Amino acid sequence: MKPDVGISVPSKADRKSRMEGTKVNVSGITVGGSEFIVIAGPCAVENKDQLFETARSVKSGGARILRGGAFKPRSSPYSFQGMGEDALKLLSDIRKETGLPVVTEVMDTRQVELIASYADMLQVGSRNMQNYPLLKEVGMSKKPVLLKRGMMATLEEFLLAAEYILNQGNDQIILCERGIRTFETSTRNTLDLSAVPMLKHLTHLPVIVDPSHGTGLRWMVPSLAKAAMAVGADGLIMEVHNNPEAALCDGAQSLSLEEFALLMTDLKKISMAIDREFGNF
Ligand code: PEP
Ligand code: MN
Repeated sequence: MKPDVGISVPSKADRKSRMEGTKVNVSGITVGGSEFIVIAGPCAVENKDQLFETARSVKSGGARILRGGAFKPRSSPYSFQGMGEDALKLLSDIRKETGLPVVTEVMDTRQVELIASYADMLQVGSRNMQNYPLLKEVGMSKKPVLLKRGMMATLEEFLLAAEYILNQGNDQIILCERGIRTFETSTRNTLDLSAVPMLKHLTHLPVIVDPSHGTGLRWMVPSLAKAAMAVGADGLIMEVHNNPEAALCDGAQSLSLEEFALLMTDLKKISMAIDREFGNF
């Protein structure tokens, strides 16, 4: 049969192979079900106070999963590279207190075992979307995978990357649109919200949106977060910091604790208008 859009979809990722959609279970939190899920937390774990204060606050604001980078892919080798295993320990401590499952990035096949021993979900970042050995390795792990779209990747390439993970027998994959590089320079990336309905059409995997990396601009994050909910995403991942001005990584795109709480109440209103389950706050 001729496809109704101009790309071919790999067989395991294809919506037609599982019309009802895939539900991803992140230690008891379901992504891809009836509830719109918000993942929030700092770009990078910097210290105990920063992580714990931010985590407690996003939890009370209605976040369901905590994010926090331990190993950071930074453009400059002189920038803060993350706290490594110490950050993983802090993430697992605050999970105990808040009950929030944790997602953190894995950059290298050699880190998968260590990170999987602490985290509830493994993040494959934009820069690694086409790191095929890494995709195979996270596919072999039993953990859910948050796969971010490569900054230069077409949707076909994105789905082929997911297919590498599916081929290892791991179907617990969440796709994340996080903006692509275009000729536009006013925003850090161009957030491709049309990717959301297109991916939902093409694949059974859940799709979330990252308006933080998608724009690079704190003031723009709420508008695009609301648009992401309205356009049919299964959730959001957003950077939140207890003191964005002092952040060691991505402060300019991180919401303050107050901004996050306010956005969540706005999202609640939209969820009611579009009949979407959202939070219990
Ligand atoms: C991140 O989520 O902190 C990150 C580095 O994102 P991306 O891979 O989308 O740039
Ligand atoms: Mn970041």
